[in-house]
This record gives sequence, C-alpha cells and structure tokens, in this order.
Amino acid sequence: MGFTQLDFYPSIAGPFLQKLAHKVFIEGYSMNRIIGRLLVEEITLGRNTAVAVMDESHGWAWFLTSDAHGRPLGIPYSIQCTSCGCLKGIKIQRHSDFDLSAYCRSCRYMKKIQVPQNNFYTREALDGRDGWGIQVLWGDLLDRFPNGKEAICVTDWEDEMKAAKLVAKLAQKEVKGIEGAEDMDISSASG
Ligand SMILES: [Zn+2]
Repeated sequence: MGFTQLDFYPSIAGPFLQKLAHKVFIEGYSMNRIIGRLLVEEITLGRNTAVAVMDESHGWAWFLTSDAHGRPLGIPYSIQCTSCGCLKGIKIQRHSDFDLSAYCRSCRYMKKIQVPQNNFYTREALDGRDGWGIQVLWGDLLDRFPNGKEAICVTDWEDEMKAAKLVAKLAQKEVKGIEGAEDMDISSASG
C-alpha cells in the first residue's frame, strides 16, 4: 500500500493507518474489503493524496471525489476562476453523470471538465456527493467495488447512452411505421 501524492503529508495518514492496521492485523479483515469503508471518514487524507493498493494481480488507487473540496470526480479543480480571478467563483455543474463543467458565477466563464476513461465511481460520487472512486493501475477492470457497490466508468456510460439512443430511434421508427399503417388504412377506407 502507498500514497500517490508527491507532496504527501505523512501526519495526515496517521489515524487512517492506525485504524487499518487494527482492522487487518487484529480483527482479521481483508485489506481490499475494509479500505473503502475506512476511507469514508478520511476526507482530509483524500484532499492530499490518493491511496494505492497493489498486489500481484491488481493495482488500484482510491481517490476522493468531492465537489465541495474542489475534486469533482477526483479531478483537482481550483475554486478560483482562471478567467476573471474571482475567488470562490467557480461552481461545478452536472449536466449528466459524466458531463461536468466548471462555471464562474462572476464572469460566466464555462469550461468542460474532462473525466479520465479508466476511473470507476460509485453512484453517490456521480450524483455529486462526497465519496471515493478507484483508478485501475493494472489488472482486471471493475464492475463492483471491493465493498460490493456498483462501479461505473465513462466507457460503460457511453455504451449505455448509445444503447439508449438506439432504443429511442427504434421506438421512433416503430411509431412512424404505425402512423404510416394508419394512413394507409384511412386512404384505403376512403378509396
Ligand atoms: Zn470568472
């Protein structure tokens, strides 16, 4: 296990490591299962660093996602507007799960936030609540987090959107087909 931030402050990780050691070595929990549950309480740690977990089969980095702490979907984002310099001017807007933009309330500057392809999120994180996501460093991709929660990434979402669009198109065609058939009936009846 390790911490990914270059200017990492070890003192912040103290309470977390203490709890982790107790859970793993004394209570006998598996590290993968317990780490997500412990991190829920570690917002301060998450603001400084991601937590990497590695073994021979996989490498993951747990990262904090928080709009309030300037990390929408784990992407560090300054609350100061880069256009007008207004402090605390930036508000994160969510158009849909992975379609985010930073909007300045002062000068109306708007910038799309690019979400990494191989990061996985919980439903809560996608809804804008504070939470933790996983970046897969190597190994299998996820469909569930180690604590059993559904893991969603941007490629899954894009596939879903494409499927939804296709369904909508097919439904539209069907409606058109029915309307066309009705037209036919009317014309045949009048004729
Ligand atoms: Zn601005």
